[in-house]
Amino acid sequence: MHESATMEALRLYAAPAPITFTASQRSGTACVWCERELQEREGIPLGGPPPWHPHACVPCCERRIRALQTYLDWYHHGVRCRRCPRGSCGKAGALQQAHLDAQQQAGAPPPWCVECWDVILPGAAVRPILWQGLRGLVFSYVHVCACSR
Ligand SMILES: [Zn+2]
Ligand SMILES: [Zn+2]
Ligand SMILES: [Zn+2]
Repeated sequence: MHESATMEALRLYAAPAPITFTASQRSGTACVWCERELQEREGIPLGGPPPWHPHACVPCCERRIRALQTYLDWYHHGVRCRRCPRGSCGKAGALQQAHLDAQQQAGAPPPWCVECWDVILPGAAVRPILWQGLRGLVFSYVHVCACSR
């Protein structure tokens, strides 16, 4: 479950920017999400970026992994579905809701649209958009219809 590829994706998906880390988060002795102090070997390593050693506690990792997994399920549905290009189908709507719920349970900040930068309101039609950024994959969202601006 905690393979390094998964942890790499998890870090790119959800880890806060290293610039916001406290000294103990940088050295890996406190969870990057809940800031709880980690006992030796308790923290799960999230990989780089060097020179930092971000770690997280198990409950935070599990909640964030669930959020990441629901994002990927939703994304992969959109890639394969024949109906979604013409506007999200019912299945995509359910996957979107499952993802937004998992995100909220993980305590993640509200998602925003990469086109208009507006926060995504409950019930808004959005789709996941996954792209390669300078530091690796970027997991983002975009409104399905024209943005309000
Ligand atoms: Zn934690
Ligand atoms: Zn669909
Ligand atoms: Zn938008």
